[in-house]
Amino acid sequence: MVKRIAIFGSTGSIGKQTLEVIAEHKDKFSAEVLTAYTNEKLLIEQALKFNPNIVVIADEKKYEVLKDALSNTQIKVFAGEKALNEVALMNCYDIMIAAIVGYAGFQPTLNAIETGKTVGLANKETLVVAGDIVMQKAFEKKVAIIPVDSEHSAIFQCLVGEGRNKIEKVILTASGGPFLGKKPNFLVNVKRDHALQHPNWSMGAKITIDSATLMNKGLEMIEAKWLFSLQPQQIQVVIHPQSIIHSMVQFEDGSIKAQMGLPDMKLPIQYAISFPQRLTSNFPRYDFKRPSSLTFEEPDLRTFRNLVLASEALFKGGNLPCILNAANEVAVFAFLRNRIGFLDITAVVEKTMEKISFIEKPTLDDYLESDAESRNFAASLIQL
Ligand code: NDP
Repeated sequence: MVKRIAIFGSTGSIGKQTLEVIAEHKDKFSAEVLTAYTNEKLLIEQALKFNPNIVVIADEKKYEVLKDALSNTQIKVFAGEKALNEVALMNCYDIMIAAIVGYAGFQPTLNAIETGKTVGLANKETLVVAGDIVMQKAFEKKVAIIPVDSEHSAIFQCLVGEGRNKIEKVILTASGGPFLGKKPNFLVNVKRDHALQHPNWSMGAKITIDSATLMNKGLEMIEAKWLFSLQPQQIQVVIHPQSIIHSMVQFEDGSIKAQMGLPDMKLPIQYAISFPQRLTSNFPRYDFKRPSSLTFEEPDLRTFRNLVLASEALFKGGNLPCILNAANEVAVFAFLRNRIGFLDITAVVEKTMEKISFIEKPTLDDYLESDAESRNFAASLIQL
């Protein structure tokens, strides 16, 4: 049976790679829903190539041009944030690849879960913002959330066949990003274009900056807590600059399982949509005959303080991860527009975490309010 895939964020890095996987396995998958924010040009190209049932463009100003370009097809065209949320509730697809970046991906993903769809989760921010609500909903609706993030896919793959065996800890690997080994006196002068050059992965702008500041690993710690029902102290981060081991699980007998491979997001994407099956692929293979060393080191927490802030949010819980995420999104956006410096990102996040009221057991409305308040406060610090 062909699995019908809805790619929310099809014009992004994950979205495009998902379409590459679908193109390789046309007998197994179809692209039923494609969505973009403003990139109507690429969305049109994708729609003409993959002939989905529905396309959505979040930016309503782009509706007419999209509609005109697809007028000779049967493809249904929608626009706006509301449409994005409504299409997520429809029954025209089996699996959502949640590949919108940031908080904008939260509601469509929650809607997919609400209607019982399997979710291939790339959008880690969804779990950072309101992991308890998302996981509770997934439990009630018996929905599988299959991680696409390479570290979490690695952990997920290590856990296959382990049944109820207890996890002692998970070890999330981090490349360290482009500024591994650098100190604040260097980082203070870092500019956007330098920070956008990740040594191992080619990704969207926001996650690339998050990788450079190590906030990405912080968000992933919180994501791991929810995906695998872990206690914060069971999550360890280790720097592994080669990005060959994508993460590890240590069980209570001391045995450690690792998932390895060359860095290529198509692998976890394909695994998420084909699970529990593994499909053939022509992705490049890691070659043990070519001499290379795999190294590991402790993260430099004095320099990359985002990891400390994210740990604080992880341990304290409540609405603190939501606050951290909102402030980080605002600060990264400002950095990408050359409005603040690299180290200011951490300062904005820290000040916002201090300012916004802590709520121990937030409701969904509390999360939405915390997100909005944190964004306003962070923006006021930057004078956006
Ligand atoms: P990109 O920036 O490359 O793509 C983001 C996608 O979301 C685009 O399709 C974009 O549309 C759309 N989008 C952006 N803002 C909005 C909005 N407000 N409303 C609706 N759609 C929107 O991001 P990535 O693909 O790199 O990352 C996507 C998610 O996956 C992130 O959460 C990231 O952390 C996670 N992830 C990414 C990895 C990677 O390798 N890239 C690895 C692991 C996780 P448009 O193109 O029109 O702007």
